[in-house]
Amino acid sequence: MNDKTKDQRFEISFEFFPPKSEEMEAQLWETVEQLSLFQPEFVTVTYGAGGSTKEPTLAAVTKIIDGTKMPTAAHLTCVDASKDEVRAVIEEYRAAGVRRIVALRGDPSAGIGTAYTPHPEGFNQTADLVRALADYGDFDISVSAYPEKHPESPDMSADIDVLKSKADAGATRALTQFFFDNEIFARYMDAVAAAGITLPVIPGIMPIQNLTQLKRFSKRCGATVPGFLDARFEGLDEKPEERAKVAAEVAAEQIEDLGRRGFSHIHLYTMNRSPLVSAVLDNIGYKPQATKAVAAA
Ligand code: FAD
Repeated sequence: MNDKTKDQRFEISFEFFPPKSEEMEAQLWETVEQLSLFQPEFVTVTYGAGGSTKEPTLAAVTKIIDGTKMPTAAHLTCVDASKDEVRAVIEEYRAAGVRRIVALRGDPSAGIGTAYTPHPEGFNQTADLVRALADYGDFDISVSAYPEKHPESPDMSADIDVLKSKADAGATRALTQFFFDNEIFARYMDAVAAAGITLPVIPGIMPIQNLTQLKRFSKRCGATVPGFLDARFEGLDEKPEERAKVAAEVAAEQIEDLGRRGFSHIHLYTMNRSPLVSAVLDNIGYKPQATKAVAAA
């Protein structure tokens, strides 16, 4: 149980990415160690485009599972891979004790915005991958959701049909792309409910480390960065401490508003850094617990 001092209680989960260098590895383990003290419900580790981080993802997930008490999910994409290749990764995950998967299609290999072509011997769509995972009978399966629709979706209703196909195939929950306007998320959740989807949809929260970089990234993945954020961060480019304080306030305000709207689980995109995420959690009344859950990395 977390030492929650404010009224609203949230379930918390974190996303990490696999490190690409020794320096990044050290940063990941420090982050895992710090954030484990908030006793998340689960954490996830992403998978590189086209399977490019298969080994680092598996290594990071295994190390988190072995070294911490945190339930840990490995992301898995099916782009550019045959079913046999994807199944081989699933078997490796299983052998390592992984029982949580974030099942994804992945971006088209020619880049976001280009046409997606399934591998000739691969899973045609994410729902097929979810079904293959569900057949094992003991996987906890998360999938993606897009409150502002996926950039490839012609409209919101097509996007919600894809979410429904993943729910019907056996997904346990959906984790959303990050968003900053809770009104958009609330409308999305109304549409999800109207489509008869009962799958829990967990809002993804991105604490803003750097607004300029975020805008570039958001454009590619179809997330809107509302104008009020420019106003909040104005004049803070050269003031990192004030900027971090505002970033923590902005994310905490968004989370508290979600709480008032009845949403009680948040999935935090950590970018493998703990100070800002810890500050956000501190602002909503969560304190790290004294007992460390992580074995020395
Ligand atoms: P889906 O949800 O299956 O589909 C996305 C969209 O594609 C649909 O909304 C629809 O527009 C279109 N589409 C799919 N199937 C059909 C169909 N049958 N007919 C018509 N249209 C269809 N990427 C990585 O490479 N590695 C990661 O670890 C990773 N983690 C992520 C985690 C989260 C929480 C999120 C939100 C995204 C993540 N991504 C990751 C990005 C993701 O791979 C891309 O957004 C990708 O383009 C779509 O994959 P998906 O599983 O979300 O696709």
